[in-house]
Amino acid sequence: MPPPPTPPRPDWPLPTISLRIDDLSHRGIKVFLDNVDPITIMHDAAAAVFQWLYVTTDKAPKSVQTIQLVLRHMDGIAYTTGSETTKEVHFSCKYIVDCGPDEIRGVLVHEVVHCYQYNGKDACPGGLIEGVADWVRLRAGFVPPHWSPGGSRWDEGYHVTAYFLQWLTERYGEGTVPEINELMKNALYDERIFKTVTGRKVSKLWKLYKEHLGEGGGTSSITSESDAEEPSIGETR
Ligand SMILES: [Zn+2]
Repeated sequence: MPPPPTPPRPDWPLPTISLRIDDLSHRGIKVFLDNVDPITIMHDAAAAVFQWLYVTTDKAPKSVQTIQLVLRHMDGIAYTTGSETTKEVHFSCKYIVDCGPDEIRGVLVHEVVHCYQYNGKDACPGGLIEGVADWVRLRAGFVPPHWSPGGSRWDEGYHVTAYFLQWLTERYGEGTVPEINELMKNALYDERIFKTVTGRKVSKLWKLYKEHLGEGGGTSSITSESDAEEPSIGETR
């Protein structure tokens, strides 16, 4: 029997991809090219961002025309730079040397989130920016072995904030992180977006999350309050 037909992929506004390799003889370049196909991996990363952060094609930003992937010798892992229409993702060959294909994919999903996410007119805390990027990586299925839930602050960033955002998603619905992102599109970042989306202040949400993990030690009930003293901003749902 033939396999069932795969559903058509949504018509995402995928960017043009270009590739710059500074030193073809670097061992990291061989590892990269042996493990992944550059155009496929970048388009898959963009599609993951659209799927998890924007959900539908009409919400997906169309401003980014081109993403250039730059593979070069540098310290660190990767970073993203550029203008509203043209982005550059720099990825360290030195780091790639010890990477398997899933780590390469995971890093690129994280960086491509930075190409497309909203940032509350540059006022969003870095921890939330990095947390949203790792939340998409988590949802796309590229979780490195060292990640685990926990942490000391909701805006600690990276996987700490990502797992917190995933708990919010399980509690308040799949639209939670897309709505938080959307509220940072045209307005200055304000912590009350969490209250707008969930009905609770982010400090309370973090406390509930820590209790859920068995790390809170508190006894407050998750159904006894709604932070009614603080007004929310933006649209309410
Ligand atoms: Zn990042």
